[in-house]
Amino acid sequence: MHIPPLELKNLVDVNCPLCGNCSPKRITQKGQFSLTCNVSICENDGLVYLTPRWSKPKYNQFYREEYDNYYRSSRSKEDEKKVHSKCIELIMQRLSSIQVGQAQKSVLDIGAGMGYSLSWLKENYKNFEVYAAIEPSSECKKNIESSDFIQYITDDLDSNWDAGKFDLIILRHVLEHFMSPISSLKKVAQHMKNDSFAYIAVPDMMNPKGELENYWFRTVHTFYFSKETLVKSANMAGLEAVIIGQENSELWGVFKLSNKKPIEFNEKNTYKRQMTVINKHLNKRKIKDTTSIV
Ligand SMILES: [Zn+2]
Repeated sequence: MHIPPLELKNLVDVNCPLCGNCSPKRITQKGQFSLTCNVSICENDGLVYLTPRWSKPKYNQFYREEYDNYYRSSRSKEDEKKVHSKCIELIMQRLSSIQVGQAQKSVLDIGAGMGYSLSWLKENYKNFEVYAAIEPSSECKKNIESSDFIQYITDDLDSNWDAGKFDLIILRHVLEHFMSPISSLKKVAQHMKNDSFAYIAVPDMMNPKGELENYWFRTVHTFYFSKETLVKSANMAGLEAVIIGQENSELWGVFKLSNKKPIEFNEKNTYKRQMTVINKHLNKRKIKDTTSIV
């Protein structure tokens, strides 16, 4: 794998988007691939996020020019299709548990990749009539645009775009990459109707897997949500949770529009629980290090 040198200058300080705290506690500076990864936690509410971090232009450049060197799958197209089919099948199973998925006519996949999930939906569900995609990768964009049924909207959710409203919006493992998740969720909410649903899945910071400093923490993951911080973020964007699930280190939820005030949660308790999880995982690594020296 070719890893080009990275410019690490011009880091940007980020306040906690939930409470505005400008001095979160640093947990570690180590992340996957030894890239800039200043993992911090807000002591007011337990939100884990990167600060200081790369600027948006630096992230854009990374996604455009370098991301694939680190994260592009070596799987064949056929295997890649199978993986995505399983993922979307699971999403539709979860949606069906609240009777969603059979009546919706339009679907927007944010972070659509090659468009395989939308293709699977077209083959397996007859109710959808409009298929739309937002995807930053130019390689994937080409593939989506060559499809005769997917409408390619934009490469950047945060840019100015308008493609009307959708019955179902899917954000599978994309929210944790955003520069400003609450603003992005507000944009999602603007493209929903009163009977629309948004499916959101992210890594579960209360149930991490693998080593935190060599695997779980990564420069491209700017935010690390727990159930509480995800629901609060959604609430602040005008969305409320219909259902929340936690399985296999993944946190997922289905959301709809809401004008209710954000649900109160015990923020100090979330911070304490989150620190317990983090310390347990960091200590596991230290114990392993000591054992290997002996
Ligand atoms: Zn905070």
